[in-house]
Amino acid sequence: MAKKVVIVGGVAGGASCAARLRRLDEKCEIVLFEKGNYISFANCGLPYHIGGVVKERDRLLLQTPESFHTRYHVDVRINSEVVSIDRTARTVTVTDHKNKKEYNESYDYLVLSPGSTPVRPPIDGIDTEGVMTLWTVPDMDDILKRIKENEVRSAVVIGGGFIGIETAENLRRLGMDVTLVEMLDQVMAPLDFEMAQIVHSELAGNGVGLVLGDGVKRFEQASGGVCVTLASGRQLEAGIVILSIGAQPNGRLAADCGLEVNRRGGIVVDDHLRTSDDRIYAVGDAVETTDFITGERKMIPLAGPANKMGRMAADNICGMERTYVGSQGSAIIKVFDLTAACTGLNEKDLLKAGKEINKDYKVTILHQQSHAGYYPGGRAMTLKLLFSPHGRILGAQAAGYGGVDKRIDVLATAIRMGATVYDLQELDLCYAPPYSSAKDPVNMAGFSAANILSGIVDNITWREIDAAADRDFVLLDVRSRTEFDLGAIKGSVNIPVDELRGSLGALDRNKKYYVYCAAGVRAYTACRIMLQNGFSDVKNVAGGYTTWSVYSKDYTVKE
Ligand code: FAD
Repeated sequence: MAKKVVIVGGVAGGASCAARLRRLDEKCEIVLFEKGNYISFANCGLPYHIGGVVKERDRLLLQTPESFHTRYHVDVRINSEVVSIDRTARTVTVTDHKNKKEYNESYDYLVLSPGSTPVRPPIDGIDTEGVMTLWTVPDMDDILKRIKENEVRSAVVIGGGFIGIETAENLRRLGMDVTLVEMLDQVMAPLDFEMAQIVHSELAGNGVGLVLGDGVKRFEQASGGVCVTLASGRQLEAGIVILSIGAQPNGRLAADCGLEVNRRGGIVVDDHLRTSDDRIYAVGDAVETTDFITGERKMIPLAGPANKMGRMAADNICGMERTYVGSQGSAIIKVFDLTAACTGLNEKDLLKAGKEINKDYKVTILHQQSHAGYYPGGRAMTLKLLFSPHGRILGAQAAGYGGVDKRIDVLATAIRMGATVYDLQELDLCYAPPYSSAKDPVNMAGFSAANILSGIVDNITWREIDAAADRDFVLLDVRSRTEFDLGAIKGSVNIPVDELRGSLGALDRNKKYYVYCAAGVRAYTACRIMLQNGFSDVKNVAGGYTTWSVYSKDYTVKE
């Protein structure tokens, strides 16, 4: 007899699951419930319609219930909320919001892909008109309606995650005054501070007022819209407030029927994406997944994993026994002209105590051109690589104006295939001057990492230098005198690399030297000269002056 599969949630995970099921099994009965009005819409595109980048709203609606039925013969029921699950009877209870009725639907297999919900904490005045979230098509419509009807000219975005930043950028595109408020000392938590500073610089440079290290205390109605009072007492007034402070998994349905959920309400699944009931699968933002690198259980709410899990749940329902090995959190964002991307663990993750994997991790930071320097149009890129003493690649982050996506995608693939930093040296990547350099930035990261691990040169980060209790070191600047005169770090000593051999006699070989140039290449040469001339405690400062100048700057707006 043909099996019957019921799917809860009709967007990323749910729609992928339904389509794959049909392709694998022409006979099975598929019923897809979606509590909203739309299925398979491009939630990732919502900010871009607000800013007018995606001009036609309909382009975000990838499928309609009718088109999905025609192509895949799936019984799609919108405005239909699954309100409970009876695991013994294998039925779900559905509220049909349009026709105001409730009914039961049976299943052989149930797939839960209910996604997540934006967090709306019980802050004073959270329900003030004009305090909005961007999560669904109706949310987007409401935001655009308010902007139009109230002729909104200013916005406060609360939360510096992906959605907050994308929304801030798109509101700027509409010519608004935009302030972005973030409680932490940096936006984009998956990036480390010095990398996030590049994003801060881009936001500030494009007129977004950045407020860091401050949270919302209260919202109130004001003559011009909403008054936001921050924990510091600072007040911001704007025509609209977009609240974007994270999401919580929609795990209630699962928890209510006794399925195992974690402390955050995320649905616990095994590596076949089966819940604690083997007739019920769960996928997407609502599930707790495995961190591919640490093996720890984690919530990683991203579209890629949700789509792939949906497809895999279908495979497993059809008996293919596929295993989900985890997510590595590969993510990317456009911030005006800048692109920032990451994969795997960041340094903040690695600094958290108590993990075996954290022991003695290493860092390299490179500043490279997106393609050959002599070919027009090359753009700056910063690439940070984290790796273990055995050469395992633990994570990577990049920010820049060209070619960031492909470098992080190559590194994400390398991580997935278990490659080491030594392998990165050998990667045979395509090259012609308009696209890359004969030694691609990914190869360069491999060279640098391999140099560190083989003891050719060690390095140190600005964060470590800042945190050092012992200030007994010489900061040696090996840039040219002109560069030094244009701006240098207080207390540093300037000996241009080409004069270094002749000046070694004036330096105390018993001292500790942290050597920097603009990006790290001249400093590497300088370190090698010193190490081969009787100096033993010499380190190259990762990212050099370029990283320091971004790292040490304040991009926030003052009152
Ligand atoms: P969703 O796609 O959210 O689908 C869940 C659906 O289930 C919803 O439509 C909901 O109405 C429905 N539902 C919930 N409960 C029930 C119920 N009881 N009965 C019936 N239906 C129910 N990720 C990226 O990787 N890159 C991006 O650039 C990116 N940008 C984003 C931008 C925005 C504005 C948003 C909101 C998200 C973005 N994401 C992005 C995240 C990505 O969209 C999600 O990770 C992905 O959609 C999760 O898929 P899902 O199937 O788990 O949930």
